[in-house]
Amino acid sequence: MKFEDYRLCSELTDNLRRLGFRKPTDIQYKSIPPVLDGDDVLAIAQTGTGKTAAFAIPVIDKLQYKKERQTRKDGIKCLVMVPTRELAMQITGVFEELSRGTLVNTFCLHGGVEQEKQIVKLQKGVDILVTTPGRMFDLISQKHLDLHRVDTLILDEADHMLALGFIKDIKDVIRHIPKKRQTLFYSATINETIKELAYSIVYKPVRIQI
Ligand code: AMP
Repeated sequence: MKFEDYRLCSELTDNLRRLGFRKPTDIQYKSIPPVLDGDDVLAIAQTGTGKTAAFAIPVIDKLQYKKERQTRKDGIKCLVMVPTRELAMQITGVFEELSRGTLVNTFCLHGGVEQEKQIVKLQKGVDILVTTPGRMFDLISQKHLDLHRVDTLILDEADHMLALGFIKDIKDVIRHIPKKRQTLFYSATINETIKELAYSIVYKPVRIQI
């Protein structure tokens, strides 16, 4: 199996080649087809397996296809929630590398930056927003962050988010996102609490274990 076999948009295929990604890793092989098909995914996979690209590749491909056919700005389409600012910046970097030359843009929302600048960036139009759950509330409550157009929700390192006490924040954020959406849930480990959270937000997921 090679990346060319997925018939991804040409920009994405070029970027994969430039990054030296020749063939999908195990998690990518198992994640990319269901994500492209619109299914929910519940995956148990550790860092280092290529899990970031496992969700970034199909999400960028679908967004590029949509954006080529749309003229108006459409607000945030994909929300990625992660436990730490460092991971948020790392994932943003992967989305940016993989979406180079496409119409798709990614923004990392984190503290320590002037809020005004973040608001201007959001108003200009962001397709993929990567952030920690707690970080969004100020902007949501001030009506600067509109999540009504989100159709893809990704939770990465969900077990780590629970360990950091983010469960209420996650649930609060999800109340602002349409119910009709695709949800991708990635965790390095699984237990009853994580399963309970997962099944409260995914719908008939394709289950993947690496
Ligand atoms: P992650 O598990 O997402 O943190 O990725 C781990 C590392 O694997 C990163 O340095 C990626 O650049 C690299 N990587 C991801 N997918 C591939 C691939 N298909 N081929 C080669 N390297 C990859």
